Amino acid sequence: MRTVTVVGASLAGLYAARALRAQGFDGRLVVIGAERHRPYDRPPLSKDFLARAPGAPAMAAGARSPSDADTLALSDADAVTLSDAEALSLSDADEDAELAAEWLLGTPAAGLDTAGRAVLLADGRRITTDGVVIATGATPRTLPGPPRAGVHTLRTLDDAVALRAELHAGARKVVVIGGGFIGAEAASTCAELGADVTIVEAAPLPLVPQLGREIAQVCARLHTGHGVRLLCGTGVKALRADGRGDGDRGDSGAPPGTTTRRAPRVTGVELADGRLLGADTVIVGIGVRPATDWLAASPLALRDGVLCDQGGVTALRQVVAAGDVARYGELRAEHWTSATEQPAVAVRNLLAGTTVARHTAPPYFWSDQYGSRIQLAGHRGPKDTVRIAEGSPEEGSLLAVYERDGEITAAFALNRPRPFTRLRRRLGAGRPAAPAAPAGAPAAAPGATP
Ligand SMILES: Cc1cc2nc3c(=O)[nH]c(=O)nc-3n(C[C@H](O)[C@H](O)[C@H](O)COP(=O)(O)OP(=O)(O)OC[C@H]3O[C@@H](n4cnc5c(N)ncnc54)[C@H](O)[C@@H]3O)c2cc1C
Repeated sequence: MRTVTVVGASLAGLYAARALRAQGFDGRLVVIGAERHRPYDRPPLSKDFLARAPGAPAMAAGARSPSDADTLALSDADAVTLSDAEALSLSDADEDAELAAEWLLGTPAAGLDTAGRAVLLADGRRITTDGVVIATGATPRTLPGPPRAGVHTLRTLDDAVALRAELHAGARKVVVIGGGFIGAEAASTCAELGADVTIVEAAPLPLVPQLGREIAQVCARLHTGHGVRLLCGTGVKALRADGRGDGDRGDSGAPPGTTTRRAPRVTGVELADGRLLGADTVIVGIGVRPATDWLAASPLALRDGVLCDQGGVTALRQVVAAGDVARYGELRAEHWTSATEQPAVAVRNLLAGTTVARHTAPPYFWSDQYGSRIQLAGHRGPKDTVRIAEGSPEEGSLLAVYERDGEITAAFALNRPRPFTRLRRRLGAGRPAAPAAPAGAPAAAPGATP
């Protein structure tokens, strides 16, 4: 292969570029990114980055270097400090030089010409290539209806900059729509900033499909225990606005271009059951969809992501996929760790021209909320039983195991990182037998149905 093009300049894309070089690819390496930024880390966007006042130094900041701002393509208008950039950047100038990649940033790929072996860019450019790594991630779902200033999704650095500016400019009433992990983390950070926070969740309880009812209840109590209202079992009918444009307010704090400046400003959320919640800021966290629109005319199979085998190889062996956009067999993970593990496997198969390696590590996810760390690993099935093996919800620290036919399928921890890590390792080594329940431990509860 003389040229490989990576589409998506974020976590999985960067790890693919690294893997290509590490596995001996010394040809032309092109990385295409829709965002203007070099790869940066998304998890802090709902946590430390959002909590930190614009301009304040990051906790992890060490020596500052202008190259960090350069790599994220920051400008003064971004209100992102160099220490923000240091905390978020996934690579540095030295690594960039070693990778020797051509970065085409700020323009999305618009198509794949498989006959002509080229990636087409939205600005009309055409990159002739022998191999392609698809790493375009996912895009937040939005609510139907007209645009409203003060309504945010949280996926990109630009999203986080706009939301942070508004929160730190004094938003008092925040409504978070969707109680999944992103919504939960955003709610936690807003509460930490002193806002009056309400989460609206359409399901009877958030996170039941992921965690089962018993453990989902443990997570729900984190919200209520920290003064965040959790309204479940009702959808959103409409986002209300009082008719004033964002430009009339003059204090939105959002940099130009990050909100629809003439859109009327949100003032409330009307629920399907008729209730009306006042809101200065609304955060929409109702999930994401894989970013595959640009592949619609390609021969690739697209079904909730780019369909791949367990090695990330698509229907075309010169095209592989990794990260949030990729469906490996039955599973499409939206986890940081999968996006860092899958690229090396996918790239190996791309360079070999066939599937010689498979990604088999169990999915792993963490989330930080209200000062607590949540961790989940493995493949929980809807009929698995769950048992608390250590600790308790009352202690604010527990390890729970999900079991099927006497074997552990998944593990959950709340503030119990060490035993969780041991169990995660055992899960990675094959399905471990369930340990005997300790004396006095609660009996296994049947897994909740989603
Ligand atoms: C706020 C937030 C907090 C998170 N916290 C956690 C956490 O605590 N724990 C955890 O495990 N995971 C967390 N995640 C998930 C984790 O960040 C993702 O799983 C990871 O970013 C996926 O990486 P990716 O490279 O596959 O996709 P992405 O990071 O989405 O990157 C895809 C890139 O491709 C670009 N792109 C899209 N379409 C095109 C196109 N047509 N052409 C060119 N480029 C394109 C996008 O603009 C984007 O830059 C969090 C995510 C968010 C948003």
